[in-house]
Amino acid sequence: MKAIREREAIKVITTHYIDGAFVESHGREVMNIIRPTDGQVIGSVTLADEEDTRRAIAAAKRAFATYGRSTTDERAQILRRLHAAASARRDDLTAAMVEEYGGVIQFAGLIVDSGISAFQAAEKALQEIPWRRSWDKTTVTLEPVGVAGLITAWNANALFLCLKIASAVAAGCTVVIKPSELSSMQTQVLVEALHEAKLPKGLLNVVTGLGNVVGAELVRNPDVAKISFTGSVAVGETIMRDGAATMKRMTLELGGKSPTVLLDDAALDKAIPAALTMAFMNSGQACAAGTRLLVPMSRLDEVKRAILDAMRAFTVGDPADPNIAVGPMVSQKQYERVESYIRKGIEEGAEVLVGGEGRPEGLEAGYFVKPTVFVNVKNDMTIAQEEIFGPVLSVIAYDSEDEAIRIANDSKYGLHAAVLGTDIQRARRVASQLRAGRVVINGMTDDPQAPWGGFKYSGVGREYGRYGIEAFLEPKAVLE
Ligand code: NAD
Repeated sequence: MKAIREREAIKVITTHYIDGAFVESHGREVMNIIRPTDGQVIGSVTLADEEDTRRAIAAAKRAFATYGRSTTDERAQILRRLHAAASARRDDLTAAMVEEYGGVIQFAGLIVDSGISAFQAAEKALQEIPWRRSWDKTTVTLEPVGVAGLITAWNANALFLCLKIASAVAAGCTVVIKPSELSSMQTQVLVEALHEAKLPKGLLNVVTGLGNVVGAELVRNPDVAKISFTGSVAVGETIMRDGAATMKRMTLELGGKSPTVLLDDAALDKAIPAALTMAFMNSGQACAAGTRLLVPMSRLDEVKRAILDAMRAFTVGDPADPNIAVGPMVSQKQYERVESYIRKGIEEGAEVLVGGEGRPEGLEAGYFVKPTVFVNVKNDMTIAQEEIFGPVLSVIAYDSEDEAIRIANDSKYGLHAAVLGTDIQRARRVASQLRAGRVVINGMTDDPQAPWGGFKYSGVGREYGRYGIEAFLEPKAVLE
């Protein structure tokens, strides 16, 4: 962790980004920024209050009067400028994610790259949307919904912010962003980068503060037409309930407990590393993490051996080291949450195949946990039902394909799922029966034009591609 300590220099953030400029915070509360690898204070951020939020909303409202009437060519040009501006700071964005969040460098780089490419993807999707349709004496146009409040989680800051900005801007909306307060440094780098895109004043506003202060103001303010939220189910429920008073449009990207269905014809040398990658990506702090591995009973012993073998690649340690696969949890609170679930799994009778309670040896200072695989898990155990948001995998045995599908769908969540098998027709048949917004076959993959979002408690609405842009639009008909 020497590399990290050498990069010292306390960062003090006292401004928000409102109406095209960095302005001093009206809110006075100061929060420390803690480095998760060693628990040291590496900076501070002055948190916004309701007044900062209202100023940002007012700026976005003024800007919407003009930007809401922009052409798709003008929006495409703005997306190109945003892409160039974010690309120029790619390495700084990655370094901030490693330092402040503890994201392992290879994955952090992928997250930042997909955030940057979201601007290009939105520009492409823009061309596919039927903005105007006419028949007889009727004309239907797709209109931007208005000022959008964008509220995000801490586990992939650059991706969430870029993705939501790209979709909203493509639709013709102006935005007020409330990033996670745990991502203040990463947000600062991104906003400095996007400032160079020289956007119309008030199009992009960013206020970092607490959820129950800044987030709550966005949700209740009548000048905000839409909330696009990424975070927990509990907060999503609050936002949906409180937003009803002003009839807010909602996109809610919430949690997951994603199943990975290993079929009995799977080649374990490839399938098990793929399953573990999906479970432990982003140190397990991923909404789409495949945290339930469903295994045919007939191959259970073989699978256990393959897991033990493949786990050697999932080393824990300094996230700045390119050989490390799992970094620390984001905070002490998250560390304790993950540890409490590992304890609960043991108490409920699951068997620890690898990992377990406590910090890994030599990593006592930071918020590191041991990547843990439980076997003998029943799907009704707490560790199989609740989202842990850490590197904890539950292996659940099944007897038949039908039973595998039933277990996979026996969850309040439905964000993501995976099928691993050799017979592709059969894998597709199983995929078609899984109740999830996205299903990947034979390993984690992405398509920025494919919808992202959840069935059931995993959320409402979709992001990515034209689906993401449509979430910021209202159809309007003019009849003569
Ligand atoms: P969280 O719900 O605690 O916080 C998310 C955001 O909401 C933060 O910015 C927070 O400050 C804000 N917030 C809190 N209270 C609020 C309120 N009353 N009104 C308005 N805003 C409020 O979630 P988190 O701990 O930051 O992130 C982890 C969760 O996010 C996990 O459940 C994970 O599954 C989910 N997540 C989902 C996706 C997805 O795409 N579906 C992606 C990443 C993370």
